[in-house]
Amino acid sequence: MQVIPVPCLSDNYAYLVVQGRSAAVVDPSQADPVLRAIDEHRVRLTEIWLTHHHWDHVGGIEALVEECPIEHVRGSRYDADHTRIPRQTEAFSEGDTFDFEGSNVEVLEIPGHTLGAIAFVTEGNLFSGDTLFIAGCGRVFEGTMEMMSQSLSKLRSLPPETKLWCGHEYTVNNLRFARTVEPDNAAIDEALREAIATREAKAFTVPGELGRELETNPFLRFDAPSVAAGRDPVASFTAIRQAKDAF
Ligand SMILES: [Zn+2]
Repeated sequence: MQVIPVPCLSDNYAYLVVQGRSAAVVDPSQADPVLRAIDEHRVRLTEIWLTHHHWDHVGGIEALVEECPIEHVRGSRYDADHTRIPRQTEAFSEGDTFDFEGSNVEVLEIPGHTLGAIAFVTEGNLFSGDTLFIAGCGRVFEGTMEMMSQSLSKLRSLPPETKLWCGHEYTVNNLRFARTVEPDNAAIDEALREAIATREAKAFTVPGELGRELETNPFLRFDAPSVAAGRDPVASFTAIRQAKDAF
């Protein structure tokens, strides 16, 4: 399995998940960059996977379904019930699995950013949408802070070698914020230096690695003693999320 980031809009990522000559695309906000990528890599696009319904994740679906031999448009049960993902053909709940060209893909419900948010996990790859970013997390639009902190706790229990493919290139800004939460955390300084160099080289900071996130991401560290500073976990998470909203 190969994962190919496809930059879309100003800072979104869609991803091609390639098995042999077949590909799925995760969160195609636009069709054109995805069509160029499938041409370049000479693959046949047969599936679309959606982490949530926001326009900057689903905007390319209609055109891709028209242009490509799409057999499956996979999203959450919640988003299907609210008919807010165009052309959705299959609906998934917590722990559901499906087969993609011989690979098992597991779906995790991770509400908070939206109530229908899901992650896809396959062969050590985590597609987290706008819930978990490298060194950050998404804004809490539809859920509660407690719900979001529980969703992030679920993701941090995946194996530390898991590769993190997230919905946006926010890494440098996220690490600048992380440094304000933990000024004495040397792992954050090192990650920030690397991320700045990566972006200066016009490269992508994805994939992240979950083990490193456990050391640097304040939204996975909200209940660590050095971050919580005596607050209960949800209060700590809420304070960090609100500080990031204003950063
Ligand atoms: Zn979103």
